[in-house]
Amino acid sequence: MEGSKPPEFELAMETAIAAPEAFGASYDVVPSSGALELGEGLEGDPAIAFRRTLGMFATGVTVLTTRVGEQVHGMTANAFMSVSLRPPLVLISIDRRAKMGAILHEGTRFGVSVLEAKQTGLSDRFAGRVADELPEATFEIVHETPLVEGALAHLVARVVRSYWGGDHSLFLGQVEFARYGQGRPLLFHGGRYERLIDDPRVFSSLPRELLDPILALGEERDYAEGDVVMRMGEEGCDLMLVVEGSVRVERPGFSSTYGPGELIGEIEVLDPGRGRLADIHAAEPVKAIAVTREQLLAALKADPRVALGLVEVLAARFRETA
Ligand code: FAD
Repeated sequence: MEGSKPPEFELAMETAIAAPEAFGASYDVVPSSGALELGEGLEGDPAIAFRRTLGMFATGVTVLTTRVGEQVHGMTANAFMSVSLRPPLVLISIDRRAKMGAILHEGTRFGVSVLEAKQTGLSDRFAGRVADELPEATFEIVHETPLVEGALAHLVARVVRSYWGGDHSLFLGQVEFARYGQGRPLLFHGGRYERLIDDPRVFSSLPRELLDPILALGEERDYAEGDVVMRMGEEGCDLMLVVEGSVRVERPGFSSTYGPGELIGEIEVLDPGRGRLADIHAAEPVKAIAVTREQLLAALKADPRVALGLVEVLAARFRETA
């Protein structure tokens, strides 16, 4: 389903914006005081300072979609939040000038597509930003609702309440459909896109001549097929090299199989005390070498080039996100 819109659509939009009541939008209007005190160091236009303050709250980015007849209307939104598990409820906040706000009313379904780290172009497209070569969006229909293909997670919700929200309208949606895939989310912070570090590997990036002396201090461990190697949240900070067989690594939004020569537990050995980051099972009989944190520290003491190598790897990761 692609998105060119006929004139009737634009006409319907104009009508909806001019007379939202006709589309069922009703709000409990709350009178508000306009006074906003700015903290020390914040000068100039209070609205801009307020906006910048709110921009410190990092969010994901969604494309909200709905149908008007056979046409799809989408818009980029980061004002999306989870509200309740039972019943499953979410909330979105829409600028009263936005077409989307005029389309939604109680009973209307809307889709939420949580964008993946590389989908900045789609975010720009649905925010009405003008740029060369913005990607085309394609949609799949679920529960009669368009969802952006390739997004990291999808929800379909039906508006059950709408509320006055100043220059925005709040729509509470009861979720009818939810799913997520694997990948990294697109983030929005301080008015710009950000992303999580793609590659959590640290020791794997060290040159062999620095890594081998660390692994030489480790001890061999054997696991039968199906054995738990690590459990998410549990204590433990050994670094492990898979020597034979393979392990299945799973955490929310990520699953992969690691085989001979690959390392697991790379972050935990450097940052102990916050629990394992993933569930790891032996996918077949596994032979591994486990290096304790004490052994790692001994290796760093014995050869400061290893410590320097680790700092360089971490600096490169930092550069990826800066
Ligand atoms: P339009 O401005 O008409 O549509 C938005 C854009 O999507 C247009 O370029 C349109 O051509 C394109 N489009 C629509 N449907 C299709 C389709 N079927 N196929 C292809 N293209 C299509 N505003 C809020 O109110 N709330 C928020 O939470 C919010 N968060 C934002 C977060 C980010 C990161 C950004 C960049 C913007 C955000 N905005 C938010 C602003 C909002 O996205 C824009 O104001 C948007 O233009 C409002 O859309 P609209 O419904 O008025 O429709």
